[in-house]
Amino acid sequence: IVQLYVPLNWFGTYYRAIQKNFIDMENMFDLMRVDSDVCDAPGAPDLLVGRGDIEFKHVSFGYGPERLVLNNISFKVAPGSTVALVGPSGAGKSTVMRLLFRFYDVNEGAVLVDGQNVRTVTQASLRSNIGVVPQDTVLFNNTVRYNIQYGRQNATSADIITAAKNADIHDRILTFPDAYDTQVGERGLRLSGGEKQRIAIARTLLKDPTIVLLDEATSALDTNTERNIQAALGRVCANRTTLIIAHRLSTIIHADEILVLKDGQIIERGNHEDLLAQAGFYASMWQQQLENRNSTPNETNAEGNN
Ligand code: ATP
Repeated sequence: IVQLYVPLNWFGTYYRAIQKNFIDMENMFDLMRVDSDVCDAPGAPDLLVGRGDIEFKHVSFGYGPERLVLNNISFKVAPGSTVALVGPSGAGKSTVMRLLFRFYDVNEGAVLVDGQNVRTVTQASLRSNIGVVPQDTVLFNNTVRYNIQYGRQNATSADIITAAKNADIHDRILTFPDAYDTQVGERGLRLSGGEKQRIAIARTLLKDPTIVLLDEATSALDTNTERNIQAALGRVCANRTTLIIAHRLSTIIHADEILVLKDGQIIERGNHEDLLAQAGFYASMWQQQLENRNSTPNETNAEGNN
């Protein structure tokens, strides 16, 4: 009994710990990380939020001493503008997001938000001003309403409905058995990837942060879902400083700047037109995606898995 009980109990505790950590910290990028070396400096002040500009200044970082994952990265995201990170798997895109959220401290250089080094301000104040729409949203085992309201605890029902409408999920919610009171998550109604992402968008709209981090889903969605999600994402990013990890280059052709990351370095930068004109790495990624699109006969329907 003891042998059986211990691992089950351990698993339950561990699972709850990671789930809590995951959602509380909006730690969408690094589910399994439960410990942290990062702590607030004694007497650290709160972040004074201005218009939400972001700057990476000569940032180098490695998860361990043996290898640098980011090597001398510098870029700025002007208030209200959109910068996209693209590049092959393992290039360091998610790591950039984690450093901005201060899940880790940089080895060299600095990450600044509105001119303040993220190391010097409280983590709570930093994170409360950043909204995250992750690739895979984990929902609480609770109602749809609760899952959206998590973005702002004191939101009214009307605010929640407005956010859901702007996230293009309201009509869908009304088709659920108990509408906004429907239980979702592992023990409730299972939602599709596209639905969960729109719940995350509604939550972020309600949170109304100055800065938004988006991690675009890699999974294929059907054209309609894709269009709805793009429209909802557009509303989340509007007038907010946005950093997006893009997998489909078609979604970032209007980004103010695109940073092409490879092996921890920015190898190309510019807007879509600039980068095509450079006829380099980005241009070949673009060409590749056009060819893939033309050779894909049927798009999968990710909404159909309830
Ligand atoms: P993808 O598009 O596949 O998500 P990415 O560009 O976001 O890739 P990162 O997740 O930032 O890449 O990873 C960059 C490098 O850092 C990779 O080589 C990865 O193996 C390594 N790495 C990521 N997370 C950790 C970690 N927690 N500990 C050690 N190494 C890590």
